[in-house]
Amino acid sequence: MSGKVTKVSGPLVVAEGLEDANVSDVVRVGSQRLIGEILNMTGDSASIQVYEETSGLGPGVEVETTGYPLSVELGPGMLDGIYDGIQRPLTEIREMAGHTISRGIDVPALNRSKFWEFVPTAEVGDRVAAGDIIGTVQETSAISHKIMVPIGVSGTIASIQAGSYTVADTVCLVKGDDGENHKLTLMQKWPVRKNRPYVKKYVPDKPLNSGQRVIDTLFPIAKGGTAAVPGPFGSGKTVVQHQLAKWSDVDVVVYIGCGERGNEMTDVLMEFPELKDPRNGEPLMKRTVLIANTSDMPVAAREASIYTGITIAEYFRDMGYDVAVIADSTSRWAEALREMSGRLEEMPGEEGYPAYLASRLAQFYERAGVVECLGSDERKGSLTAIGAVSPPGGDTSEPVSQATMRIVKVFWGLDSSLAYARHFPAINWLTSYSLYIDGLKNWYDNALGEKFMQNREKTMSILQEEASLQEIVKLVGQDALSLSDRLTLETAKMIREDFLQQNAFVDVDSYSSYERQAILLQIILDYDTLCRAAMEQGAELSKLISIPVREQIGRAKSVPEDEYKEAYRQIAENMKIQINEIAAGGEEL
Ligand code: ADP
Repeated sequence: MSGKVTKVSGPLVVAEGLEDANVSDVVRVGSQRLIGEILNMTGDSASIQVYEETSGLGPGVEVETTGYPLSVELGPGMLDGIYDGIQRPLTEIREMAGHTISRGIDVPALNRSKFWEFVPTAEVGDRVAAGDIIGTVQETSAISHKIMVPIGVSGTIASIQAGSYTVADTVCLVKGDDGENHKLTLMQKWPVRKNRPYVKKYVPDKPLNSGQRVIDTLFPIAKGGTAAVPGPFGSGKTVVQHQLAKWSDVDVVVYIGCGERGNEMTDVLMEFPELKDPRNGEPLMKRTVLIANTSDMPVAAREASIYTGITIAEYFRDMGYDVAVIADSTSRWAEALREMSGRLEEMPGEEGYPAYLASRLAQFYERAGVVECLGSDERKGSLTAIGAVSPPGGDTSEPVSQATMRIVKVFWGLDSSLAYARHFPAINWLTSYSLYIDGLKNWYDNALGEKFMQNREKTMSILQEEASLQEIVKLVGQDALSLSDRLTLETAKMIREDFLQQNAFVDVDSYSSYERQAILLQIILDYDTLCRAAMEQGAELSKLISIPVREQIGRAKSVPEDEYKEAYRQIAENMKIQINEIAAGGEEL
């Protein structure tokens, strides 16, 4: 089935004579067979988003529909891989064609010549249905790839054999309930714009452990939850996302770079393969899939990259894994959407973004969640979606930030003034929030004791009080404050500097365990309580502020991991002694 191009406008190509084609079909354009996707159809005329440079195309060029929607290949070989927005393997392409992707290049997403050791877990005669695990492939040292019965297949296993196979070889034969024989391979396909099905969704009730104190203690995200990281240029979005990719206690990370400034994406491409998984010392890429759109790739591919990434993530979720998708940045993705919408001459909404911007963003984040996967073993998997937003000028009143904030449940608002003051991570504790607190409380209470959440609340209220006290100081000066208020300012300062600030580039500080976070915060809050009691007995605030243990608290973050428990115990003890001494001295006066 083929038609003819009538118009070319950047990545948009209009073609006629495609009456048999459908919206979402993948098409091939021209002799170079450029890859495109039909966005909408009127009669036999199709508007096509082309994922490659369209220069040189003109009216009359042939367009052929494949009859299939834009899909990804799912199977062993994705981990450790770097793909572009439509899942073309960048490393392989570079080897074949050099640094710039030549147009129309046709390389399968999954390597067809690589052999994988398939270990069956099902037997001949077993009844199987969609999602059932029939065997495993040890894909990388970190991940055992579960081979699942594809959606749409059910029946009885007629043959299954252990051995070395490529992704295209038949490993199992299923005599289908539909009377057909289904040849199962290690690989399956799935259309990217369609959510992968599951049995049911649960309310997320476990936190994602990020090792970042401001996140884990103040604004936690649940596994299966959604979060946005908005922030102006230079406020630390990239570092936050890298920290999450590096430290999150998930099994698989899908990192989607949708064309941040070109060189930054290259940074990711250079840096990620170097990173080590802190838990086992293995290269981080062994549990990571990178989707990269460098600035030399056409914008249309950015639009697809979000779907490609989240579909791959859903597939790993379906195996029963905890997966995180990190999209950097959804603003660039929305700009690609805007550009296509403009070329389609659709009615523009706010700031030229299409009216469906919010619903598209919602469709992305809605694919997150904790689910019971398809398959008879009732396994659970989770997909956590985290998106960076880069509002121009850092102004979050713009449409992408606003639409995102209405959808996500965690908001880590990065602040340029904090970044300027070198307070990192520059997550503003007054504007950020997490709507998972109530849902996670049980987990925190059980795992860390009820004190943890109580301390969190106390910390939040001290920080809020600090903000209002600072307003007063601005108006009438420090002298107007009571001693108790001054102590609050002092404690707040300790919370900010000794607890919230965390240096991503210092090994011991880059990751902080829950327990370590809990003890450190307890010390700071105990300082506040002890000082208040001492002041009741007449102790002078200025003396309390300058006790020597304060310096030790300030350095507590950088105590090595195997020494911190003893060191923190000593700090707590010294603190008590030193404050009591001042209190006793105060009584004498
Ligand atoms: P953005 O992506 O928002 O433009 P970056 O993530 O590149 O900003 O951060 C800018 C700079 O801020 C980094 O190069 C680094 O020096 C500093 N920075 C950000 N976060 C941290 C952190 N957690 N620890 C130490 N330095 C940080």
